[in-house]
Formats: sequence, C-alpha cells, structure tokens
Amino acid sequence: MCDAGDSEPSSTEATQSFVSRRGVLLGTGFVLGAAAVGWEFFSPTLRASAEGTYLRPCGIVPISSSWMGHKNRNPPSGEPGTDYAVVRGTPIRAATSGVIVDRKDSTTTATGRYLALRTDDGNYIRYLHLQSSTVPLGARVSRGQLIAYSGASGFGSETGYGPHVHVSLWIGGTPLQLGFTNSVDFENYVEGGPIKPPSEDPVPIHQSSTYQWNAVVPRGLWTRIPVAADLYWLAHSSATVKETGDVAIYLTTAKVTKGFQLRIVAETLNSSGAPIASAPQPPFEVPVTRAEAPNSPTYGQYSLPYFLSGPVRLFAEIRALNTGIIVQEVTVKKNYWLS
Ligand SMILES: [Zn+2]
Repeated sequence: MCDAGDSEPSSTEATQSFVSRRGVLLGTGFVLGAAAVGWEFFSPTLRASAEGTYLRPCGIVPISSSWMGHKNRNPPSGEPGTDYAVVRGTPIRAATSGVIVDRKDSTTTATGRYLALRTDDGNYIRYLHLQSSTVPLGARVSRGQLIAYSGASGFGSETGYGPHVHVSLWIGGTPLQLGFTNSVDFENYVEGGPIKPPSEDPVPIHQSSTYQWNAVVPRGLWTRIPVAADLYWLAHSSATVKETGDVAIYLTTAKVTKGFQLRIVAETLNSSGAPIASAPQPPFEVPVTRAEAPNSPTYGQYSLPYFLSGPVRLFAEIRALNTGIIVQEVTVKKNYWLS
C-alpha cells in the first residue's frame, strides 16, 4: 500500500455533490502516454528462479516510487513495492503464471482495489490501486495475460492517489506468512533486470483550486475557461519536464435552459511558447437538469488522465448551447507527477 506519505486521500465530496458526468478520454497522439507504451510478449521460458523472468505490469514506464523509496518513507510503507506511473485504465499484465488468490473490488483503505497472484514458482504478488480487475478469484492466469486495468483507487475514492499501479512481491510465501513489510524489490525480478537503480521517491502532487468566474458565456463559441485570475492552462510540460496526471474540472452554472459542452484542448507550443498546433478532445455535453427549479445551478464535471511530453499545455473550454449561461464557479483538481 502506498500509505503514509505516498499521498493523502483526495476529497470525494465535490464529486458526490455534482451530477456525475465523466468523460475519460484517452486522447490522441502526444497527449496520451499509454498509447505510446508498446507491449512486448516474451517467450515463456520459465527458469528455476523467478529472478529475471517476471513481466512489469505495464511495460517500460516511469517508476514514480521505488521499493527502496517506500522503505525510506517516514514512517516506512507497510507494504513496500514499486509504483509504476501510468494513466488510469492502462492494461496490467500478469508477471508470470499462477492463480488469483485474492481480489478486492472496493476502493476502501490504502490499497483500494487489488489483485493477488500466487505464482507457480511459489511467490506472491499484489497489484494495488486498480480501476478494475478482469479475472475472477480462483482464475488461473498465464504470463502476460491481461488481469486488470490500472487506477488510482484508495481511501474510498477513485482518485485516492495520483494514477499508478503498485506491485509488491514476496518470495516463497504469502504476506501473511512472511509479513507485509517483508516484500522484496520487484524490479530485481523482472526480465532484463531493473531499468535503473532505485530512484528517489517523487510522490504525486495534489492540487485543487476554485475560481469564481461569474461570466456569461457566448452561445455557440468555444470559450477558454480561466482557472485562476489570468490563468487558463490546467497542465503543462516542457522539452525537459514531462507531466503524468489526472485532471478534473467542475463547473457551477446558472441560466442553463438547454445545456452546454465541455472539452479539453492540448496545445503544442514552439520554443518561444507560441501555440503551433492544437488537439481538441471530443466534447461532452451537460444537459440542463429539468427537474431543477428555474435558476437553480447546473453542474458539469469532466476528467482526463493524461501524459504530456514536450512543450504542451492543456486547457478546458466551454460552449453554451443557449444564450445567457453564466459560469459561476470553476474548480480544478489534479494529481500529477513531473518527471
Ligand atoms: Zn506504492
């Protein structure tokens, strides 16, 4: 579990009080990290030892917190493991063949949803913070098989962490037999060995801001949404700094008689910071809630997992479907890593 210092849970109150309209957009080209992660299927030559045979859950991706990083926390992690930074919804492959011996489908506690794999070579692996599992308890799985989709679940929320998958490994027994803290460094058991020495331990950054906009949105035009005074971008990366995260935008609106649309746009910048290309994500529509009394607010929620590399910025835009729509309040929440 990524407890004690991995991050604090995000509040879910805002989510619950809004009409839930969620657009998870695995965007085009440069916006999306997961699409760029290739899958290599290795020939399943099993060896006597696990060392050097296991598959990483999502291929070669950034490690946001190493096993040693978990151990070095204060207090130390209760279940040291390797955190692979991937956007939510990334396929997770079984490290090796075995049987699913434990499965949790609720977001509660520090683990969130998880799967446990008892491997044929006598070891035990847990995959934490899942969005969903695709294999039932008791299933036999083979090396490289899709077993789950990554998430950020924990502490009763889908976004208890920044998005990642945590992998813990115990050698020769279960965590109950060996102790949850007596895991070993999974990276030492993957095919090809560790990518690099255990890294420092960046933890996801949580950011939340609320801006009182109180602007009438022109009908039929895409209008950029400010998220603070004179600030419009939700996330940005540069030629040297990449950003992996999850951003959610919440709007409180008035005078909605028909509805409005929301979208996120990725803009590529040149070296002097001027936009040279833009990639709008598909919009989604928030209709008026007709059951509401006249003049009561309509809420819109939009969220997006993302990976930005190169000089890129993300913006949110709104298009009013009737005249007179007022955006009263804009709240932006995100969990992200810079790498
Ligand atoms: Zn972790």
